[in-house]
Amino acid sequence: MPLKFPEPKTILSLFSICFLFAFGIPNSFSQTHKTENIVLITLDGMRWQEVFKGADSLLVDDTGMVKEPGSLLADFWHPSQLERRKMLLPFVWSTLASQGQLYGNRAYGNLVNNSNTMWFSYPGYNEILTGKADDERINHNRKVNNPNVTFLEYLNQTPDYQGKVMAFAGWDAFPFIINEERSKVPVNAGREKVTGADLTEGEILLNQLLGEIRGKSNSGRFDAFTHHFAMEALKKHKPKVLYISYGETDSWAHSGNYDEYLFSARQTDKFIREIWETLQSDPQYKDKTTLIITTDHGRGTGKVTWKDHGDEYADAGQVWMMAIGPDTPASGEMKAKGQWYSSMLARTIFSLLEIEYPDATAGPVIQEMIR
Ligand SMILES: [Zn+2]
Repeated sequence: MPLKFPEPKTILSLFSICFLFAFGIPNSFSQTHKTENIVLITLDGMRWQEVFKGADSLLVDDTGMVKEPGSLLADFWHPSQLERRKMLLPFVWSTLASQGQLYGNRAYGNLVNNSNTMWFSYPGYNEILTGKADDERINHNRKVNNPNVTFLEYLNQTPDYQGKVMAFAGWDAFPFIINEERSKVPVNAGREKVTGADLTEGEILLNQLLGEIRGKSNSGRFDAFTHHFAMEALKKHKPKVLYISYGETDSWAHSGNYDEYLFSARQTDKFIREIWETLQSDPQYKDKTTLIITTDHGRGTGKVTWKDHGDEYADAGQVWMMAIGPDTPASGEMKAKGQWYSSMLARTIFSLLEIEYPDATAGPVIQEMIR
């Protein structure tokens, strides 16, 4: 929580500073950050390679990975990486790249990694949400309540944020990762419908379609459900803290559908644009909301290994992160050499909100992310 005082050039200003320390710092001085709301978005298993380089030349026209040869080229292919990444993630490489920050382009030595050594989902989300790895206990993907406390739960215990924290996720393990039972953070995930007495027309239709359209597996649903449930909640409940976990990118990658993986990534970019534009058109959120986007793990890099992840895949612990908001410098693509970790986001989010993170063992603040 940096306090910025004018340079004490005169005795008078020195006196006024002594006065401030002696009699307490008035509120207007202690509020240095503009962020009042946080939206965290994750794309499951989305590789940094596509985020920064666009479609992979190894896979974009591989007959084993796409349904029809040549079918992706018009949408996703250009000889230049800079063009390709814009074709894949147009919002990220326009608005976010000009007004926010993107970490993880390893071509510049800008490294973001998991600090857990598992490199799959529960450990990844545990790390992002609690601020640290727990390889001893969180070394599985089972639907077991998380013994660790997430930043969402910590915020839900504060008077300012209680009842104003919500989560929406594709994967039905999220009620356990966030420990909905103990944290009392409402988590809508998997095949679960939205309930309540005041359902909107949109929610009623989404509930109906969720019963009619099967996801790729019993444990998840298509991202459009997660997205539109979250959008309805954003307009109706106005949460101060919203977490949205999209899952399709990982699921298409596992089944080896590179075409669907890219289409999903591009669709999620569109979802993120819709969220950002909604936030920036609402006085509760406009210029008072920081949006953070990241992933839970990386994947392999070979023609076959790209489908999978876990500690047997050398590069699967490589990730990325992005931020845009009123307290984040508009540095764009970060090109400085350095090492960042998924575990640094929880304390950074608290620092943006000017609250001390309750867990002293969590990762440090990402200093560059806060003005
Ligand atoms: Zn996976």
